[in-house]
Amino acid sequence: MSFLANKRALIVGLASKLSIAAGVAEAFHEQGCALAFTYQNDKLKSRVITMAEQWGSNASLCFPCDVSSDEQIQALFADLSGQWEQFDILVHSVAYAPGELLEGQYLDHLNRQGFAMAHDISSYSFAALAKAAHERHMLKEQGALVTMTYIGAERTIPNYNVMGVAKASLEANMRYIAASLGKNNIRANAISAGPIRTLAASGIKDFRSMLGYNEKTTLLKRNITAKEVGNTAAFLCSDLASGITGQVVHVDAGFQVAGMPDSI
Ligand code: NAD
Repeated sequence: MSFLANKRALIVGLASKLSIAAGVAEAFHEQGCALAFTYQNDKLKSRVITMAEQWGSNASLCFPCDVSSDEQIQALFADLSGQWEQFDILVHSVAYAPGELLEGQYLDHLNRQGFAMAHDISSYSFAALAKAAHERHMLKEQGALVTMTYIGAERTIPNYNVMGVAKASLEANMRYIAASLGKNNIRANAISAGPIRTLAASGIKDFRSMLGYNEKTTLLKRNITAKEVGNTAAFLCSDLASGITGQVVHVDAGFQVAGMPDSI
């Protein structure tokens, strides 16, 4: 059963084959979805185009977009509309905070600029993309949006610091987007993924110990994969999930519900 057949998805946040966005693209492609991608800058352009081809897309459906730029967000949808008049799914898989804020105690390295940047790129950009697509009437009825969050939004996690605060903002942002687009029969949800080794994750100090701790303490006694996140995103963005909106779905091998580990 291809439950995304005849749907079109724009995926924002592909950087490498390890990216969660790559797991999403793989899962969406398996479910028959047509895909378009963005790349953050010219350095990533050829890599994103090469990966896009493996999922049945091509260079004409790969667009530059640094989400910190309103002009680039507008240009993205202007360019995309030349290929697709409308699309069904927007995947937001983007986050950034200056590296020095992702180590030590939260207050030690915190500053106004780093706080603003983390929130701008990791949270505001989801609403900015949703707003720009919606205002151009490019999001189809029965469409769906999904973003990627982490348990650090709900609980303190060593070194995650300002990114946890930005993820809390992102989750609230997702709920207000869901409220805003609900009357148009467009849904928005977030996936709270367990730790996965990616380029962004390598910016968090001692990320390896997060992976090790999770492996021992999740209910499934293992870490999760980007493909597992992708499969959940495919479900959430499909008509099978037509009654689900405004939710944070944990794809974390049960980490969120484990009150006390059996052993560590
Ligand atoms: P990744 O490095 O593969 O992806 C991060 C993406 O953000 C990259 O494609 C990068 O180009 C993009 N990006 C950063 N700043 C940008 C900007 N200004 N404009 C446009 N794009 C920009 O890492 P990932 O782990 O796949 O991260 C994807 C999402 O998943 C992020 O929101 C991250 O917080 C979230 N997440 C990751 C994990 C994990 O353990 N890897 C766990 C939970 C949630």
